[in-house]
Amino acid sequence: MKKRWMIAVAALAVVACFWGAVIDAAEYLSGIQWTEPAVVDPGSAGKPPSDAIVLFDGSDMSGFNGAENWRVADGYVTAGEGAIESKATFGDCQVHIEWATAAEATGKGQGRSNSGVFLMGKYELQVLDSYDNKTYFDGQCGAIYKQHPPLVNACRKPGQWQTYDIIWKAPRFDAAGKLVSPAFITALQNGVVIQNHFELQGDTPYHRPPAYTAHGDKGPIGLQYHGNPLRFRNIWVRELKEVPHKRIHEPKIVGK
Ligand code: MG
Repeated sequence: MKKRWMIAVAALAVVACFWGAVIDAAEYLSGIQWTEPAVVDPGSAGKPPSDAIVLFDGSDMSGFNGAENWRVADGYVTAGEGAIESKATFGDCQVHIEWATAAEATGKGQGRSNSGVFLMGKYELQVLDSYDNKTYFDGQCGAIYKQHPPLVNACRKPGQWQTYDIIWKAPRFDAAGKLVSPAFITALQNGVVIQNHFELQGDTPYHRPPAYTAHGDKGPIGLQYHGNPLRFRNIWVRELKEVPHKRIHEPKIVGK
């Protein structure tokens, strides 16, 4: 009797394996033929990836317009009179920028080491010394100015180097200038997420509500001068493009 049971169990195991093999043999095919993603050397820590466009490597500010009063020394640049904009323009992109507020914290609220990173020259991710320095929350460091505060305050102490890593999805407009899709931003400050795919309501002025005005597919990276001598270094941008692809058939399951 015991032997019969063992045979029955063995037979069931064989059947299970057979059905498992049948299931394993099936494969879903999306029907989309993808081009192989480009190979990018991520570089060593603190260095730009191989496909980055370097705007400032610590030696000169020739990648920017308006930087006549910005002073380069010791591998960084100190903000001077006048806002600057990159000569190169970008649409969807990844931006890396390092900055340091004044070591000696002077001024209060918006007056303490105020600057800003302007995506496409219009949309400000606030730079401010918000370490133990209160201001309106949608204007503190890491805010999309006047639209959305940072999810958390990840500021380092005054004078310390900090990083912004920004993932930017540019707004789209149709031929008539109507907004087709808004801008989105994801941003990390010192490795901490401070904006998570936030949908912008428009540009980021001080004196009126945000609004979209049609503009081109690309725009410069701007850095604000707000009367405060912040330092910047290691600024680079990567253009973000979809992997080329085409549909070659409808989705299907094969191998059954
Ligand atoms: Mg600002």
